[in-house]
Amino acid sequence: MKIGIVETPGVLKIADRDVPKIKTPDDVLIKVKRVGICGSDIHIFHGKNPFAVYPRVWGHEFAGEVVETGSAVDEGTGGIKKGAHVVVEPIIYCGKCYACRQGRGNVCETLKVMGVHIDGGCQEYIVVPAANAHVVPDSLPWEEAVLIEPFTIGAQASYRGNVQSGDFVLVMGAGTIGLTAMQMAKIAGAKVIISDLVPEKLAYAKSRGADYTINAKEENVIEKVREITGGMGSNVTIDAVCIKKSFEDAVEVTSAAGRVVELSFYETPSEIAAVNVVKKELTICGSRLQTKRFPVVIDHIRQGKLPLAGFVTKVYPIAEMVEAFDYVDKNNAAVRKVLIAMPD
Ligand code: MN
Repeated sequence: MKIGIVETPGVLKIADRDVPKIKTPDDVLIKVKRVGICGSDIHIFHGKNPFAVYPRVWGHEFAGEVVETGSAVDEGTGGIKKGAHVVVEPIIYCGKCYACRQGRGNVCETLKVMGVHIDGGCQEYIVVPAANAHVVPDSLPWEEAVLIEPFTIGAQASYRGNVQSGDFVLVMGAGTIGLTAMQMAKIAGAKVIISDLVPEKLAYAKSRGADYTINAKEENVIEKVREITGGMGSNVTIDAVCIKKSFEDAVEVTSAAGRVVELSFYETPSEIAAVNVVKKELTICGSRLQTKRFPVVIDHIRQGKLPLAGFVTKVYPIAEMVEAFDYVDKNNAAVRKVLIAMPD
């Protein structure tokens, strides 16, 4: 079978490997249909992801069809059976450490992310634990099923920020993650303000339901948010810009009793005065990957609350994988999601 592999930083190749075999009774073998290219995959390609171990089959966003099930897997295992269409939750956690006992396997002490720490979904077939496979409706196009993982990231941000109906939510950054966070906040009933430097991204955000857009190149985001909210500030601020200043601005612009949600792995310290956190009694939290968000997003899709059409920018066959990475790399302003189609 064909696999897409980053051999060492900068070296992305299509290679051949044997079809994997089910190893434990709880495994399923999946024929992968589509793989999404994420900004983090581009970072792995360029050697800029500190967690990546090489060589690595990339891909943490993938959906496919179950073609074989382990002996302990039956339909009671989340409806998993041969032929089921599934999206894969790409994280493996121990279940025993403190974080796991809190139900937060996304920050497990021995967390392994497919496509980062262990091989991911850019391969024609993959074996995963059945518990990591979530059934999606057969009628859902593969191009949409593969978007569920990125939407779980937005869902986690909304969940961590405890977004409530009627809240003003500021989403900083209208890239893929910002857009997914915006849509999940909208489903929760919030009024969403979204900021970015790129007019095309703001226009797309508006078309997908943003209530207010701010071009951060032309307007002062903090002043504009205060104007929109009658001086209050945003009740929840989700930072998907992820630089030193965006974290500082998020603390500044968030209202009393508000929540700041950080999505950044940015390493430069931000300058935040304790008094600015305490006087408003802000909650500042990180949002990493997701916990139990796959069923939430799938449920929204089943109920028709999450229109996904138009989110995919381009689909490349695996033979053109290198070109696809190059396209994502060079067209940041235009790209929402680029997919790889695996052979039928
Ligand atoms: Mn991703």
